[in-house]
Amino acid sequence: MPFNLSLAERDAAGLKRSLPVIERVDGRCLYAGGKHYLNFAGNDYLGLSRAPELLAASEQAARDYGVGAVASPLVVGHQAIHRELEAELCDWLGLGAVMLFSSGFSANQAVIKALLGKEHTLWQDRLNHASLQEAGLLSPARMVRFAHNDMNALAAKLKPAAGLIVSEGVFSMDGDTAPWPGLVRLARQSGNWLMIDDAHGLGVLGEEGRGTLAEQGLAASDVNVFMGTFGKALGVSGAFVGGSRELVEYLHNFGRSYIYSTHLPPPQAAAVLAAVRLVRKADDKRAHLRELVAQFRDGVSGLPLTLLPSATAIQPLVVGEEAATLRLAAALKQQGLWTGAIRPPTVPKGSARLRITLSAAHTQADVQRLIDALHSAL
Ligand SMILES: *Cc1c(COP(=O)(O)O)cnc(C)c1O
Repeated sequence: MPFNLSLAERDAAGLKRSLPVIERVDGRCLYAGGKHYLNFAGNDYLGLSRAPELLAASEQAARDYGVGAVASPLVVGHQAIHRELEAELCDWLGLGAVMLFSSGFSANQAVIKALLGKEHTLWQDRLNHASLQEAGLLSPARMVRFAHNDMNALAAKLKPAAGLIVSEGVFSMDGDTAPWPGLVRLARQSGNWLMIDDAHGLGVLGEEGRGTLAEQGLAASDVNVFMGTFGKALGVSGAFVGGSRELVEYLHNFGRSYIYSTHLPPPQAAAVLAAVRLVRKADDKRAHLRELVAQFRDGVSGLPLTLLPSATAIQPLVVGEEAATLRLAAALKQQGLWTGAIRPPTVPKGSARLRITLSAAHTQADVQRLIDALHSAL
């Protein structure tokens, strides 16, 4: 059978993935196989996944609304708690309207497939997340990729008023940020729409944690489509798409993964609402996280590996070869430190890496343990 063959090939190439069973996990720690580890592989950047405020809100909502939404949003699934969360997101980010999705993957499918027809072009940064690439491949629009964060490369490929430019705020496997003032300028000059996927910037960057645009002195209204997720710094799961009222009304009508999917469970919407309220006031957590990032970068600067230029919670150490990456991750695991070994096709060939993520839930001593372990493993 063909799939057997490709699995064997992946295995032989050291690229087969398997599913670890985690017994308990939060922003700082995890337990697996009865062993305790420090967690440097997750996306709970502010350590909110077990915050008492989120637990209380979700328990209360389960009693008030039930654990399931009962239907898709346009049928009878859209409840008062969903509306309340949408209003909070609009207020926080300065958006005209917002809609909720059960995942960022599905939010990106809805936007790109509903907005673009075969007469359109979609310009994507080459390192955009798989959910954006997938939506682009499945949409009838022509997809054009441009070199990572290269505004000259994008400018050379743009056509006037022909479609949508999309990029990430913070790149999920590299940790660097896109040059948003440049993207906004090119989109305006060429008369094309602009979309941000700020899965990893939201909550972490900018005033009140409003994300990459705020960090770079821009407003939500500088882009046409603002997509963010609840599964990273907000500590829950799900996503939103925001923009003008017209955009959201359009997607209510044409966004297939929105229309034909059960709405977010009310306890999840309530937990996200509690998370947003915490995140807006979490300057202390963001400051602590920035200190840990500086400590880590300083501590590993002498290692014989490439530390990518990232000022965010994502701190990738590029090893290059797949087997060596796995060996390094295994050596760290031996010492009770769990990092992500990221291999192709998630990242380009020859750039296998440890994707190390820091969280405000870590202490300076935790980060020092990681630094020491990396020095002794290399
Ligand atoms: C995680 C992620 C997504 C997908 O979001 P989910 O809610 O996990 O489906 C989309 N885009 C980017 C950049 C991401 O990192």
